[in-house]
Amino acid sequence: MRTNVKHFINGDWVESTGTDTIDVINPATEEVIGKISSGTEEDLNKAVVAAKAVLPSFSETTKEERIDMLKAIASEYEKRKDELVEVITEELGSPVTMSEKVHYQMGYNHFTHVAKALKSFVFEENRGNHIIRKETIGVSGLITPWNFPTNQVSTKIASAIAAGSPVVLKPASRTPFAAMILAEVIQKAGIPKGAFNLVNGTGSIIGNRISTHPDIDFVSFTGSGKVGEKIMKNSAKTIKKVALELGGKSPLIVLDDADVNEAAKTAISHIMMNTGQVCSAATRAIIPVTMKNDFEEAIKHTLPSFKYGDPKKTDVKTGPVVSKEQWETVQSYIKKGIDEGATLLVGGLGKPKGMETGYFVKPTVFTDVSNDMVIAQEEIFGPVLSIIAYNDLEEALNIANDTVYGLAGYVVGKNKDTLSYVANKIKAGQITVNNGKIDFMAPFGGYKQSGIGREWGDFGIEEFLEIKAILGMSS
Ligand code: NAD
Repeated sequence: MRTNVKHFINGDWVESTGTDTIDVINPATEEVIGKISSGTEEDLNKAVVAAKAVLPSFSETTKEERIDMLKAIASEYEKRKDELVEVITEELGSPVTMSEKVHYQMGYNHFTHVAKALKSFVFEENRGNHIIRKETIGVSGLITPWNFPTNQVSTKIASAIAAGSPVVLKPASRTPFAAMILAEVIQKAGIPKGAFNLVNGTGSIIGNRISTHPDIDFVSFTGSGKVGEKIMKNSAKTIKKVALELGGKSPLIVLDDADVNEAAKTAISHIMMNTGQVCSAATRAIIPVTMKNDFEEAIKHTLPSFKYGDPKKTDVKTGPVVSKEQWETVQSYIKKGIDEGATLLVGGLGKPKGMETGYFVKPTVFTDVSNDMVIAQEEIFGPVLSIIAYNDLEEALNIANDTVYGLAGYVVGKNKDTLSYVANKIKAGQITVNNGKIDFMAPFGGYKQSGIGREWGDFGIEEFLEIKAILGMSS
């Protein structure tokens, strides 16, 4: 059992002031793997006091000192690799290879890339007869979801440290243990006491208090739109700045000169990676009507090559969804798709054969989907793809942009001019052309209801800063 019912406050693990606990469940076995504290407002207040106390000195540390802190964290993080991989596999149900190559690695990359971005970051510059200065925003509250337990947490912590902002983190209570290892990593790395605090608990108590607390100056939130809206409303009471990284329903536009097999592989990899629990996943494959039959055949052919099953096996690519609730949500969307009249190409309701224990979902692909169907409009957050056919490129773009979301977009094909035209026309924060590689220096964040603000690299650092103009002098 991984039970740890303490919070990390002012450089130490401290007892909670309450006695309530939350069970953490392994979604592949449905077993309780540990307990965490369900923290109280008093716990959160203590963490804020610690963060506020260190703010004057932490915000005045030099850039070089903060680069050293980030490097020290990266180095301590590396030492905990095996444990992090094991914990992520257990608490999220992520296949062990994915836990290592994606989850562990993304966490590491944020610390090293933010350190690199900080090196060339300009905090003060002359503009004519005035100075522009960027100063730490103050104390930051970080609230994170369960789907990327190290990535979300690391991008926020790295950016906050780079900006000299002390933080109070509330990780998702479904996947808290990776974040708790990170707290130990930060403790070992010798970051000033109070600059990093972690309080476990529910969104309704700890999350709510973070967004209403008068001594928290900025809330960086990643999660659902519904909670994002609450955070914005709560933060309005103290005119707190918020950064919101929310959901998506991203399009994959397949051009008529694309390789159909490659396009199908791309589409399938999006819904199978992290069991489709990826905010930026392409969940709408928008394909030329002339390619429809070939694409459907390629999908059926490709899907079995993504091995589905026990996350502890190294050849497994996709595991269960995170929880019973998530399983039920995904089932309700599959049922909705059937009821709406979409054609079930593969998958469907219920658990895959032989996988009765664990929150396993049948990877499901619907075709003959029209973009106004619920399955094409709402974020499902599971291994479910909708195929939508188009007649010409303008129709494809209209379908792609006919969504309340704007987190990501994808386009595959050969003609460079068309690829560039489509990339420019999709209204989303990050567009990937022909499986372009992830870049930790590129900004990540959404248009429209996918959020406010950007993370990663120097764009992430900017979020934790205020801008000051000093008139009448230059340095
Ligand atoms: P969620 O919104 O339910 O929870 C996110 C966090 O908010 C959790 O820590 C939760 O405890 C907390 N919370 C809940 N109620 C709260 C409240 N009233 N006040 C403050 N905090 C509260 O989201 P989830 O189910 O954990 O994660 C899935 C969602 O996250 C999806 O919508 C997904 O698209 C989104 N997401 C977005 C990004 C991105 O970068 N844009 C990345 C990952 C996940």
